[in-house]
Amino acid sequence: MRYVSTRGGSVDRRFSEILLEGLAPDGGLYMPTAYPKIDDATLRRWRGLSYAELAFEILSLYIDDIPADALRTIIANTYTPEIFGSTQITPLRKLDDSISLLNLSDGPTFAFKDMAMQLLGNLFEVELERRGLQLNILGATSGDTGSAAEYAMRGKRNVQVFMLSPHGRMSPFQQAQMFSLQDENIHNLAVEGSFDTCQDIVKAVSADLGFKRQYSIGTVNSINWARLLAQVVYYFAGYFQATTDNSERVSFCVPSGNFGNICAGHVARMMGLPIENLVLATNENDVLNEFFKTGRYRVRTSREAMITSSPSMDISKASNFERFVFDLLGRDAQRVAQMFGTELPRYGQFTLEEHAFAQIASYGFVSGKSTHADRLQTISDTWERHRMMIDPHTADGVKVAREHLRPGKRTIVLETALPLKFDEIVRQATGQDAPRPPSVADLEQRPRRCRVIEPSADKVMAYIAQHCNC
Ligand SMILES: *Cc1c(COP(=O)(O)O)cnc(C)c1O
Repeated sequence: MRYVSTRGGSVDRRFSEILLEGLAPDGGLYMPTAYPKIDDATLRRWRGLSYAELAFEILSLYIDDIPADALRTIIANTYTPEIFGSTQITPLRKLDDSISLLNLSDGPTFAFKDMAMQLLGNLFEVELERRGLQLNILGATSGDTGSAAEYAMRGKRNVQVFMLSPHGRMSPFQQAQMFSLQDENIHNLAVEGSFDTCQDIVKAVSADLGFKRQYSIGTVNSINWARLLAQVVYYFAGYFQATTDNSERVSFCVPSGNFGNICAGHVARMMGLPIENLVLATNENDVLNEFFKTGRYRVRTSREAMITSSPSMDISKASNFERFVFDLLGRDAQRVAQMFGTELPRYGQFTLEEHAFAQIASYGFVSGKSTHADRLQTISDTWERHRMMIDPHTADGVKVAREHLRPGKRTIVLETALPLKFDEIVRQATGQDAPRPPSVADLEQRPRRCRVIEPSADKVMAYIAQHCNC
């Protein structure tokens, strides 16, 4: 399999070449040249596989430059019941006659980002070793991404993680989860500023190409193709658990922010998985709902982005969205470059032409929006009626899923975090404390490693230079 950029500038790359990269050099996102098509016989064979075996079958269609035995071992060491809490890895729970929840948040940090990040950690370790490279990962987080990255990279050879977070602004549980890690290669830098300040520092450091090269700075953000690919697997795993044979179609509803999770569903559907609708759920930050309803894409400024009670979906632009637009426009890279290749304020401001907008239905996409009041109501209702506790992001998914139900068709809502991570709103809605796994019973009491740092790219660069493996 070869990879191309959505903006046409970078062609013919292989998986291991793009594994450690973020954006393509022309600013676009990497995409496979074509989606492998899965026939019915293959789908039937896959139905009987374990999660790790299924992941190997899917990933090996896209990865042909890591030896098959090595890839199989990496995957088998990633998707284990010890790490993900059950033999199914992503167990399906029935909510009622039309909706099921696919648990994606039983990994080490209790959010779905572990599904891909755990694999990335193991792939990085093997690739860096093989190529004799060191990597210093620099990231900014408001919560889930940073902890998933740290738990995936902790103790890994040849990798250091420098994670910026807004000082004092993450939930107490998220802070405890990240700052209690004692591994030498994990560096928590609490920046005196907002999440945007953190992101601006990452951008400034990455823009210093001399520094970036000298210190082998890399990222693990959601545009990484390997992360997206790892997420394709659970759409198949969820489908097999929800159906008895391959003539049935199901819909998936996905609480969305940067469009990474649902884009994996798009890939699964393009491969031939019988998906009826891909139902995209947003919170009050509804850039994507607006697009799927009207064909108009209007990136918000970071000042317009709202802070909500489903914070992991608080986005002003959806960084993976360009991938879908590339497919929607018949892979016309020149047009994608025109639409996305400019800076704000014109960046990502476009309205689809009518015939392109009409195409969206054939890709299965529909959308909806959920607000704070909907979230509270849905968490409370799900608790009262089904005795199931769900987190605010999953609640956005359940709310929007209900608006798009079709008679006789099951909708699988992706559960993207455990309620424990956002226990304040959950307590408000249900009057109950979210259940806490024994492994984190004393999390908040553990000693912490975190350095408070001034909001300055120079300060961060000095810290990296002092603490990196270089
Ligand atoms: C990251 C995240 C999302 C959004 O996923 P995208 O891939 O960015 O669309 C939703 N819910 C939770 C809990 C998350 O951590």
